[in-house]
Amino acid sequence: MGGNGTFFDQLAECVKREGERHPGEVAPETMRELCSAAAPPGCVRPKPFRQPTNSPATAKPTAAAAPDDPPEVKLEKMRLYSLGCRRCPLAATRTNVVFGEGDPHAKLMFIGEGPGADEDRLGRPFVGRAGQLLDKMIAAMHLKREEVYIANVVKCRPPGNRVPTPEEAARCMGFLERQIKFIRPEAIVLLGATAATFLLNRHEGITKLRGIWQEYNGIPVMPTFHPAFLLRQESAKREAWHDLQQVMAKLGI
Ligand code: URA
Repeated sequence: MGGNGTFFDQLAECVKREGERHPGEVAPETMRELCSAAAPPGCVRPKPFRQPTNSPATAKPTAAAAPDDPPEVKLEKMRLYSLGCRRCPLAATRTNVVFGEGDPHAKLMFIGEGPGADEDRLGRPFVGRAGQLLDKMIAAMHLKREEVYIANVVKCRPPGNRVPTPEEAARCMGFLERQIKFIRPEAIVLLGATAATFLLNRHEGITKLRGIWQEYNGIPVMPTFHPAFLLRQESAKREAWHDLQQVMAKLGI
């Protein structure tokens, strides 16, 4: 990109510089498009991501999504939006927003509590020790990690890995609700009490809830133990496996 002086070139240079300074805030496709040598004449200029300007409490995460966008596009637009989110105090201490990842057309979705230190550092869900166990659980179900979708109740790390407050969860819930709506999985596995409390509004504790099918907007939901708990309490793995087998039966795996 030599900057031949056209408006497009100047804009591309500027967004590229910004993208390098703030990695992740400009979609890779947008960067690729902007940095490609020849912009077709009359092409629509891609819009760089901007910080949302509406008030944090009322902001709508899907403001830019069109109803007939495919799930992958809706999710990507919402992910870009989430990178600028400052709706709750967790924004002040996060390194990265951990939006979630996986197949936008997944049959199965896993929902945890919130990012830990490794996830905060890398911007990806379940990549630490608990994540390694989750990977094994997914493999035991004859699935690949890329075939499912993995998300959390809150997208930013609570300091010291504390449980998110009800207010933090409520302010973040719009993202998770829309992730579920866009993906429309055939089943959801809730990992641990926090996910069960905030998604199902159930407060019984995971030991009581686990292993019993619940429902969220018509989608079957199986609560089970969080992998971090299973790392501490090996003996609970047998029950967790029983729960996952029920999910496999439901999905015909
Ligand atoms: N624990 C969670 O609940 N989510 C993660 O992403 C990692 C650990």
